[in-house]
Amino acid sequence: MNDAIPAPARVTVPVAGSDATFPVRRIYCVGRNYAAHAREMGVDSREPPFFFQKPTDAIVPSGATIPYPSATSNLHHEVELVLAIGQGGADIPVETARRHVFGAAVGLDLTRRDLQNAAKEAGKPWEVGKAFDASAPISAIHRLQGPDLPNSGRIGLTVNGEPRQQGDLGDMVWACEEIVAQLSRLFRLEPGDLIFTGTPAGVGSIGPGDRVVGHIEGLDSVSISIGSG
Ligand code: MN
Repeated sequence: MNDAIPAPARVTVPVAGSDATFPVRRIYCVGRNYAAHAREMGVDSREPPFFFQKPTDAIVPSGATIPYPSATSNLHHEVELVLAIGQGGADIPVETARRHVFGAAVGLDLTRRDLQNAAKEAGKPWEVGKAFDASAPISAIHRLQGPDLPNSGRIGLTVNGEPRQQGDLGDMVWACEEIVAQLSRLFRLEPGDLIFTGTPAGVGSIGPGDRVVGHIEGLDSVSISIGSG
């Protein structure tokens, strides 16, 4: 059998320090996983974190220039730790979550904040605010060694060299193991899944000509430039 139309491109992310690539299946994101960011979004931090998805082909490699997205006048940066799943499973216990994670990366959960806020206010899905083209820039994936997931270390973001977001992975409401466990109760995880784990405080607008760099201690940085629309 032949494909009736051209096949969609295979989406991969480089693995740091090797010529291997990580093929991407799904992109999950955690909402409001840092108390200070939940407060700046006007929400009490005791609300449990929740999940949403971006399309796989929203991935953008570090170093790229992306066009300013359509239909927004308030594009926001959110720097996030990304977990890369290497072994599938459902109902994964917290105690064994580590073995399902292949590696970690730095991602940007780019957000059309005006569309997200309008959807929120109308009680509608966030899709148009979150799941748009080129909304998921990501660094190379660092292969994790040893028994621990990255639950501490500085995380931050600069725009044109100016610090905007600063935090510590230790401030996550849900630690990496808990995120994997909780998500796997809702969806069976499979190799190739990425999990954006939420952003610290300091989110804000970016526009054409800006250079945005997200960094996490011990991982490769992610950098993008914003072109014109
Ligand atoms: Mn986010």
